[in-house]
Amino acid sequence: MGLNFPIYLDHHATTPTDPRVLDAMRPYFTERFGNAASASHVFGWRAEAAVEQARERLAAAIGAHEPREIVFTSGTTESDNLALKGVARAYRTRRDHLITVATEHSAVLESCGALEREGFRVTVLPVGRSGLVDPDDVRRAIGDRTLLVSVMAANSEIGVLQPLAAIGGICRERDVLFHTDAAQAVGKVPVDVEASGVDLLSMCAHKLYGPPGVGALYIRRRRPRIRLEPLFHGGGHEWGHRSGTLPLALIVGFAEAVDLCLHDLEAEAARLRALRDELWTRLQAGLDDLRLNGDPEQRLPGNLNVAFPGAEADAVIASLRDVALSSGSACSSARPEPSHVLRAIGLSEALARASLRFGLGRGNTREEIEWVADQVIAQVREQREKRAGGRPGGGRRRSDG
Ligand SMILES: *Cc1c(COP(=O)(O)O)cnc(C)c1O
Repeated sequence: MGLNFPIYLDHHATTPTDPRVLDAMRPYFTERFGNAASASHVFGWRAEAAVEQARERLAAAIGAHEPREIVFTSGTTESDNLALKGVARAYRTRRDHLITVATEHSAVLESCGALEREGFRVTVLPVGRSGLVDPDDVRRAIGDRTLLVSVMAANSEIGVLQPLAAIGGICRERDVLFHTDAAQAVGKVPVDVEASGVDLLSMCAHKLYGPPGVGALYIRRRRPRIRLEPLFHGGGHEWGHRSGTLPLALIVGFAEAVDLCLHDLEAEAARLRALRDELWTRLQAGLDDLRLNGDPEQRLPGNLNVAFPGAEADAVIASLRDVALSSGSACSSARPEPSHVLRAIGLSEALARASLRFGLGRGNTREEIEWVADQVIAQVREQREKRAGGRPGGGRRRSDG
């Protein structure tokens, strides 16, 4: 409880493995190890049983009809690549057009780019200032040769929740496949592939307090049954969709992590929403001229993304050594370009560089949030004052502490 330094507010980048998940995994590294494809002995049989049980739990978690609709991968990046390239290459003779959105994760956007180089056509839809896709834009973009629409469930930077059910309904109507990257959504908000008309869904364990290195792709098997060309050729594991020995312990941990999230999804969402709202209220009380990036309502409970005009997000982060925060997508923070998501919702380059992403999660306490709010307020004030002081005629705003 209370303050635990350093304070982790970057839960969209990754989450710590829950100790209960680690406990569930541990025996599968040692006495219960085995290759689930070994059909001739008890080590293999036990491993296979554990994998199938995990597959059932994951299928149930997203409302899939059958466990066989879950295919294990190394993570969401691989799932996105497998979904897009796998489907596109399997259906290319009949349909060659894909639709996605400007705010998607690079795993989706770059896969689309690779498919364009193979001769596919890709439409990248814009989003409104709130970060939401207009389902009517999806409807209008669909043509006779459209194969698939890919729209993420929850954005990893601004946390917005896209209208999946509306888009899924349109895709159904027009006989187009629907893929969603749900890495940020599963375990945080209700996700149901039937209710949303989703045909392919990407997810991974390390965003929901499970181990890094394991993910899954949901692939609908009935109405319609989806074909897919594999990315990896080899032993034919996972019904030929994804060859490679299954990481038994990681898979067991993945299922345990999802179940723990679902077990108190509502209570945890309410707790995080209250903390997040408290953070936003405090920041607004301490600073003028803030801008909330992304829709205020349709967003993940643990996400707050704020532009602080007059401040450099990277400088704020550098000065807050005891807080783990991100200035944009962690996936692109090795590159200095401003976030493509913030640019897509209409922020100038300067405002994008003035934006901080707060990703709240399971371990965070009220005391931590209060402390971080105070620190951010102080840093932003200091930066704004320095700027004002450095300009001719500036310096009027005196330090008030
Ligand atoms: C984290 C994330 C990914 C990439 O997941 P990896 O586990 O790094 O492969 C893809 N999409 C979204 C929305 C994410 O949040």
